[in-house]
Amino acid sequence: MNDERLAKYREMRDFTRTAEPSGDAEMHATGDRFVVQRHRARRRHYDLRLELDGVLLSWAVPKGPTLDPAARHMALQVEDHPLEYADFEGTIPAGEYGGGDVIVWDRGTWDAVEDDPAAAIEAGTLHFDLHGDKLVGRFVLVRRGEKQWLLLHKKDEHAEPGWDPEDHPRSVKSGRTNEEVAAAPEAMWRSDLPPSEAEIPLGANKSCATAHWDPPTGEELAALDELGGKGRWRLAGRNLALTNLDKVLFPARDGEAPVTKRDLIRYHALIAPVMLSYLADRPLNSHRFPNGVDEPGFWHKEVPSHAPDWLRRWRYEDADPDDTQWYLIPDSVPALAWLANYAALELHAWTSRASDVRHPTWALFDIDPGSRTTFEEVLVLARLHRTAMEHLGVEARPKVTGQRGIQIWVPVEPRYTYAETRAWVEKVSKAVGGTVPELVSWAWTKTDRRGLARLDYTQNVINKTLVAPYSARPRPGAPVSVPLEWDELDDPDLAPDRWTIRTVLDRIATVGDPFAALLDVEQQLPPV
Ligand code: MN
Repeated sequence: MNDERLAKYREMRDFTRTAEPSGDAEMHATGDRFVVQRHRARRRHYDLRLELDGVLLSWAVPKGPTLDPAARHMALQVEDHPLEYADFEGTIPAGEYGGGDVIVWDRGTWDAVEDDPAAAIEAGTLHFDLHGDKLVGRFVLVRRGEKQWLLLHKKDEHAEPGWDPEDHPRSVKSGRTNEEVAAAPEAMWRSDLPPSEAEIPLGANKSCATAHWDPPTGEELAALDELGGKGRWRLAGRNLALTNLDKVLFPARDGEAPVTKRDLIRYHALIAPVMLSYLADRPLNSHRFPNGVDEPGFWHKEVPSHAPDWLRRWRYEDADPDDTQWYLIPDSVPALAWLANYAALELHAWTSRASDVRHPTWALFDIDPGSRTTFEEVLVLARLHRTAMEHLGVEARPKVTGQRGIQIWVPVEPRYTYAETRAWVEKVSKAVGGTVPELVSWAWTKTDRRGLARLDYTQNVINKTLVAPYSARPRPGAPVSVPLEWDELDDPDLAPDRWTIRTVLDRIATVGDPFAALLDVEQQLPPV
């Protein structure tokens, strides 16, 4: 339907046409979207795109749109773009037209002031209101040459003298900068394909499984020790403002020294190169205990406004309006140190990646002991899961929770919905639990469970999480949730809280990380 209008777009891109035109236009019948993409191509520019009659009218604005009413920025009208391009963020292959990287710098809806915007553009002046995250108020496009226009903002209540788009560099879609998107793109735009097929997801998992983080240096750790109760710590090129470093977050256990916030920050920095494999690319829910674990903690999801700019943020587009919108994605050693300073001591990453949140990469079994369940009984249940996984030919590993339980983590190809992984885990759990009815209850409420264990498959839901590998737990001595090899279930010294933030690094140095072998496993779930 918009073939004629998009002919120029195709012509410039050596477009190999296939039979079916895109049907996407119907999905946006309102037709009032706008987007501004920050595009680093041969020259960096901002692409202002207004949806009209089933295409995106487009202008390349080298200095970018601004709220500054004194600015008159050149805007070069370029070819109309397909609607599918409006949400695109990622890279365009080098050598192709526009090769470089693109972020969704701002977006929202627009209203034309003129009754007939197409005629207004034809006549050379378009007044319009933008309702975006960054751009708001009335703008004007005025033609100055065949393709040359000026873009300006009217002096209205949204005008801000001196406002510079470069001071607001992050994507409203992902929270990332162009540099961050270029370093780990989640998608590529193949403009030689039809618009409905042009966006190619890139396996962010591959980048994560092979990603590498350096531990803090000896000098960096010494500098942390030398700080008083608070101060600035430079770690991996980032400046961290640390506070209350000598505050006890975890009381002592078994004659050990209590654990201070400084100890936790050091642990987070040291464990980061191992732990980030389970956190990077994933939205984070954290359990914070600013007054130490003797006081009640609380769940924290929304990235605070005071958080430093270099922390990666991600917007959950399916969130309800009154729920958390912006999540933190810990993707660096300093990010983990920042979380420790924020007393976010128990970290729960989503089981899906931000690039594809509806498809988990882990299916989880949670052996949740009841008040009467002994650890020996938890081990019986864990070994039954081992037998089940062997029988099904499924790769998995157990992990102690650092409290009383054991979980089984199963890596899966991100092709299943949460409903599918949950149904699979439920079936296997019911089969396992059915062999030991004296140990397991399926009752929903704690009292009805009569102190028996629960095999909890209900955690396999979006934004429900289990504690991440190597996260501390809010208990005296700072015990840690630790991945195991299957045969460690038979170790008589195993205890669910055997390792703490003081001892787990030695364990990793000796036996490695048992989950590392799962990181590049993408398996399908066999029928049960
Ligand atoms: Mn462009």
